Amino acid sequence: MAKQAPVLEVQDLRTYFYTRTGVVKAVDGVSFSLMPGETLGIVGESGSGKSMTALSIMGLVPKPAGKTVGGKVLLDGEDLLQKSNSEMRQIRGRKICMILQDPMTSLNPVYTVGNQLIETLRMREDARGHGLKERAIDLLSKVKIASPETRIGNYPHQMSGGMRQRVVGAIAISGSPKVLIADEATTSLDATIQYQYLQLLRELQKDTGLSIIFITHDFGIVAKMCDRVAVMYAGKMVEFAPVRDLFNKPSHPYTEALMRSVPNVDEEVDKLYAIEGQPPALDKLPVGCPFAPRCPYVFDRCLHEYPTSVTVGENHHAHCWKLI
Ligand code: SF4
Repeated sequence: MAKQAPVLEVQDLRTYFYTRTGVVKAVDGVSFSLMPGETLGIVGESGSGKSMTALSIMGLVPKPAGKTVGGKVLLDGEDLLQKSNSEMRQIRGRKICMILQDPMTSLNPVYTVGNQLIETLRMREDARGHGLKERAIDLLSKVKIASPETRIGNYPHQMSGGMRQRVVGAIAISGSPKVLIADEATTSLDATIQYQYLQLLRELQKDTGLSIIFITHDFGIVAKMCDRVAVMYAGKMVEFAPVRDLFNKPSHPYTEALMRSVPNVDEEVDKLYAIEGQPPALDKLPVGCPFAPRCPYVFDRCLHEYPTSVTVGENHHAHCWKLI
């Protein structure tokens, strides 16, 4: 059987911000691939470069300070970094789309959700009025909104947070994209609604073969949803592993520390564990391993050279000198 090709391949992606205080390396040499129907989790603390990796893939890096200065983003073999703005406008939504944490940043409060869905369908399919309302109702029912015929006339403020996030999901899948990037898409939802939303994404994935990148700080979501996980620190991917291996054998000291900071309900402790220190300023990265100032295993070599990638298992790699 022929080997499947990745739907998305990111190679040595670099996005820098040019500020008064120096060059902020927000994404620095990130590489990974995503197979059809696969779910990849990207985890890490705030400011580790997860969201900026997503924005770089989408061609939405904030300008003028930010710039993707190197690498490739191959979607079905075509490099998105070589596309013009108008070409990217055609690709976003149709082939690749993104759901953000707060649905209100994606929805316009002065239009009904029906208007917004119909307008999206019109733009994506160059279609005229006929049948668009029915398509919009169908999309709302696909994302499990009850009474879609009535709800289509609602304004975003007339819906709950969970419902609004479903509408954003409906808009995202309206162009039948191949890749969906969910950036902390369930963070603002309460636990029950979050569970339902994750179920929904799974069902959509099963029906459409959609590939998903989950950006999250929630290891529960990673365990539930992802096939593979990438751990980011200071703009770099420091560990990459199949989900089970990452949980069974976290190899990078940063991954180990992240996992330790997840509270365990079965364990009685006086004080919850937190990783000591702060992530480094990205415009003043230390020479050597950026985790060195916080790492309990640090030794001389860590302070002078950036660690190479070490294979610790099948498809499991980590950048750490202690693993050599
Ligand atoms: S390379 Fe050194 S400082 Fe960095 S994570 Fe490994 S042991 Fe810690």
